[in-house]
Amino acid sequence: MVKGRDQLLKEKRQRERQKEKNQRHKRTIIMSTTIFILLVVVVVGIVMVQANKNQASPPTKTSTAPPPQSTQAVPSNTIDISGQPTLGQANAPVSIVEFGDYRCIYCKQLEETIFPKLKKDYIDTGKAKFTFINFTILGPGSSLAANASEIIYHDYPNYFWEFHSTLYHNQGNENKKWVTKSLLTKIAKKTVPNLNVQKFKDELNKETYNNNVLKDHELAVNLKLTGTPDLYVNGKAIADPLNYQLIKAAIDNALNKAGN
Ligand code: CA
Repeated sequence: MVKGRDQLLKEKRQRERQKEKNQRHKRTIIMSTTIFILLVVVVVGIVMVQANKNQASPPTKTSTAPPPQSTQAVPSNTIDISGQPTLGQANAPVSIVEFGDYRCIYCKQLEETIFPKLKKDYIDTGKAKFTFINFTILGPGSSLAANASEIIYHDYPNYFWEFHSTLYHNQGNENKKWVTKSLLTKIAKKTVPNLNVQKFKDELNKETYNNNVLKDHELAVNLKLTGTPDLYVNGKAIADPLNYQLIKAAIDNALNKAGN
């Protein structure tokens, strides 16, 4: 049977429509796949950026950020504060110990925001004493600054805290080598009346008290510290040394235990 011309044309149009339909379907699949791939790329990108951000955020082991602290109690007698600058009454029931680095920005923050409150509420009232121990983890500048503070502590103990706090106030950018012998001498002159400038310079050049800096470092390493600042209240590590309420609670708890 021979198909009519109209019938042939109809079949041809049907085939063409089917072809078009198939092509549209193909295009739809390609577009959906492309959109899906783009979405996956965007999501993976966001996740990676977020992960990098988290990595870049403090704390890290070598940065100056407050490190993750062990809240495990360390008996206070394991932190030997003999030969360390200590402010307050020797027989105060609570012993607060800071491990710090003069180049650490969070240590400066502790010095400027936390320490004045501790001094007013607990040290000046005879409830606590405060000890500073060097933990030099930020390079040669940290060690040089610590050496200068040990010189002041040994030669002019009454002016240690003034020198210590002025040094923090003069802290430079953490990415720059701001600790210099001339800056340390300038701060020593400013904070110590009748400073023997030549002796100070000689001791700084010879690193006369470097063994004390190394001894401090050893104390920190024995406590498995990984960053600065670290704060201990009667031997118990404070999880966040920049949280005054947390420190206050630990001190009040220690005072209660001591029957005060
Ligand atoms: Ca020391």
